[in-house]
Amino acid sequence: MIDFQLTPADEKVLSSAHEQAIIGRRYARYYDKHEDELEPEEFPEAKDLPNPITLAEESLSGSSGSRILHSLVMLEVYWGGIALHRSKWGLGNTVLKTVATPEQFEKWKNHTIAIAITEPGAGSDPANIRTTATFDRETGEWILNGEKIFISQAQSGDAAMVLSRFIAPDGSRGMTTFLVEKGTPGFTVGPQLRKLGIRSHDTCNLLFENCRIPEFNHIKGDFKSTMSVFNDSRPMVGAMALGVARAALDFTREKLAERGIEISYRGGMRSRSAVVDRFIRLEAVYEAALLTVLRSKWLEQQDVPPKVEASIAKAAGGKAARKITQGCIDILGPEALSEDHPLDRCFRDGRIFDIYEGAGEIQRLIIARSILGYTGRDLR
Ligand SMILES: Cc1cc2nc3c(=O)[nH]c(=O)nc-3n(C[C@H](O)[C@H](O)[C@H](O)COP(=O)(O)OP(=O)(O)OC[C@H]3O[C@@H](n4cnc5c(N)ncnc54)[C@H](O)[C@@H]3O)c2cc1C
Repeated sequence: MIDFQLTPADEKVLSSAHEQAIIGRRYARYYDKHEDELEPEEFPEAKDLPNPITLAEESLSGSSGSRILHSLVMLEVYWGGIALHRSKWGLGNTVLKTVATPEQFEKWKNHTIAIAITEPGAGSDPANIRTTATFDRETGEWILNGEKIFISQAQSGDAAMVLSRFIAPDGSRGMTTFLVEKGTPGFTVGPQLRKLGIRSHDTCNLLFENCRIPEFNHIKGDFKSTMSVFNDSRPMVGAMALGVARAALDFTREKLAERGIEISYRGGMRSRSAVVDRFIRLEAVYEAALLTVLRSKWLEQQDVPPKVEASIAKAAGGKAARKITQGCIDILGPEALSEDHPLDRCFRDGRIFDIYEGAGEIQRLIIARSILGYTGRDLR
């Protein structure tokens, strides 16, 4: 039997996450307007509060499982817009965990490691990557040259896991990953990028100019193993998108209530006003997308690595955030656009989830290939 009920242990963690999200929301407009300021590692209010992400990851006894709970905590964090505890982990840490040698893992296990894949002309199609590492026989080092754009955790991170082409001493070529630490000569982190939404999200371009990398930093993740980190993170992005969507829905519900419009689920369509019907349809989009996230995370917990399910959750969450934030603005009218309220920010913040970690169109291509039995070459 499928049981959609959250357990008391889940509820406890999620209620703490929600309380913190209410505090985070007070800061969201500030950081929306001060995008060059890096959010603190821990906000003062969080000092004596448990980090709900850590609680979720700890496989709490009686919970629905750490993967499911973690995604629901992220939904709460994005409901607030600002996390009171900054994440210590980047997607580069996942590559380190999955492909590094025990010695490499030991050295960098406590570093925050960004993932650096995207380049000008190589976003949706990383096969176009031009960053290249050549091997210097004399020194035994790799020499890295290239540019990466829109890299998250570029300022706050300690290092970047860089997906690069390589030309080995024997002339063989391919793709591989290098861990490049901050402070390595030839490695430059650009300024914070100006964005439509999630404005204070730490995002910069990276430049590698004759950057010498010791062989020990060669992590040897190939193209496939590097891209597979997104199987975990895509449903999480779906959950984050739904956090923003639910913030928009909650705000709209509040505003409608102030105008004396209660959302009633009783009766059929004929007994509802158009505005209530519209709101309920948006909620249905939210619920449907949430189920895709939960299914993908549940599969992970059964040790069935989700592939197409991860794409479905990301595509559904990203699309839901766009549709719901837009729909809430339609319902509330001009008042929705006031900076005194969170809705204009939700509308802008909600856009990213259909772009990064594979745009919506790319997720739909992955889904279509899986359903129709096509390869990447057949359908692109
Ligand atoms: C805030 C932010 C943070 C990011 N963080 C990171 C990070 O940490 N690390 C990292 O490596 N990258 C990061 N990115 C980059 C992000 O992953 C890319 O922007 C994304 O993959 C899209 O690539 P692109 O920008 O080159 O767009 P393009 O690939 O040029 O796509 C442009 C449009 O064309 C569509 N499109 C492309 N190909 C197809 C196709 N075959 N069929 C149909 N439609 C198609 C896309 O869906 C999109 O709508 C980040 C981006 C942002 C904005």
